[in-house]
Amino acid sequence: MKWDDFAGWGSRIADWAQDYHLTVGDKPVRARTEPGDVLDSLPLFPPESGEDMEAIFADFEEIVMPGITHWQHPRFFAYFTSNAAAPSVLAEFLTAAIAPQCMLWQTSPAATELETRMMDWLRQSLDLPGEFQGVIQDSASSATLAAVLTMREKALNWQGNQQGLFAQKPLRIYCSSEVHTSVDRAIWVAGIGQQNLVRVPIKGTWRGMDPAALRAAIEADIAAGLQPAGLILCVGGTGTGATDPIDDCLQIAEDYGLYSHIDAAWAGSAMICPEYRHYWPGVERADSIVFNPHKWLGVQFDCSAHFLKNPDDLVQTLAISPEYLKTHGKDGIINYSEWSVPLGRRFRALKIWFLIRSYGLEGLRDRLRNHINWSTKLHDTLALEPDFEIITPPMWSLWTFRYAPQGATDLDALNLALVNAINDDGRIYLTQTRVDGDLVIRFQAGQFETTEADVMMAHTVICEIASRL
Ligand SMILES: *Cc1c(COP(=O)(O)O)cnc(C)c1O
Repeated sequence: MKWDDFAGWGSRIADWAQDYHLTVGDKPVRARTEPGDVLDSLPLFPPESGEDMEAIFADFEEIVMPGITHWQHPRFFAYFTSNAAAPSVLAEFLTAAIAPQCMLWQTSPAATELETRMMDWLRQSLDLPGEFQGVIQDSASSATLAAVLTMREKALNWQGNQQGLFAQKPLRIYCSSEVHTSVDRAIWVAGIGQQNLVRVPIKGTWRGMDPAALRAAIEADIAAGLQPAGLILCVGGTGTGATDPIDDCLQIAEDYGLYSHIDAAWAGSAMICPEYRHYWPGVERADSIVFNPHKWLGVQFDCSAHFLKNPDDLVQTLAISPEYLKTHGKDGIINYSEWSVPLGRRFRALKIWFLIRSYGLEGLRDRLRNHINWSTKLHDTLALEPDFEIITPPMWSLWTFRYAPQGATDLDALNLALVNAINDDGRIYLTQTRVDGDLVIRFQAGQFETTEADVMMAHTVICEIASRL
């Protein structure tokens, strides 16, 4: 293909994308393919000679699209949403065209400086104090890994990278039972070991860490000759929206000199609304905070916002600075690759800029508030159905329930059958989780174009399909 032909195809694809977003609500949400269907449709060998774009595009529609689960569907109520608001998709198109690699300031000064400003816009939007600085990571998992590595290096007086962990005292890191699996992986990759990740018991309707149990666990470790190194808290956990008592736990982190990291990957977006900030009182005491603007805020995937009270700790952990990466003669510049595990960096700040300017913070807040209000309304109506039990209450727009008709025996099997039947039906898409060992069904609303009617349709679908089981 020649660049001369690009504009024609570009506008054709833009038309396609607009039509896709306007009509995706008519499709079944979850893909209806069987395992191997797509694989079997693909040639076993790569072509030796070039093919026409027309043929490539036809196969995209015929082979790929039927195997897509529609994350931009207005009735996608599974997992958490991964939004793609129109202006951020346009920014991503531009980024794909320029394709800069933004590891250093000089490898695209505009990318670095736009990132600095966008992270400060996000910081202000969440009302975090000015002492926090930000960096865009590729995922919350990467941000959490970077935080765990920082915990490790700080606790080892910056000797872990040099000496390895073989001769060191075991380091201990504390979290609740509700944190995301990315925490476990960070602990593995950092060489700290699963057995040194201490799961502190939870209590209360927010399913948050019990501060007294945290203090007791730290004291017991110190008495046993182990070295407490860090605390990982969650705000809006993935299963049920579990939220730790931030202020109380961060006080304990300060008392024992632990580096602290807050994972608010999903719920962080809602903190642009002042009325939800009571969920993280004392957040300004944390060392590190991550949230994913690509989940609920509307930024096209991928984009993780990582705030740091003292970026020097992170840079001291991750910076290598060999001679060929140095940019000489420029003072006060930031090389963001020193703030992240991967060296290469995509230009992600542009899509934040386009999104925030296009909607304004008020426009974004309105959307989030609607999602929460409609989800709560759905919760209230399902709570009135005698055959359904609410298991966990709405945390922002996420809550869980269970189908428990009188006389039913194996509720786990029944609810799994219900989720599967709902997803086969295709009008809505839900996923399950476990709460205290029981299989329950999650509901969350957050797709950018969802309406009150879309959310309330879930009531009809859930009751109708349950009655048919
Ligand atoms: C989604 C999610 C993650 C993982 O995010 P990635 O960006 O995919 O790594 C981590 N923690 C929580 C609470 C999440 O909801």
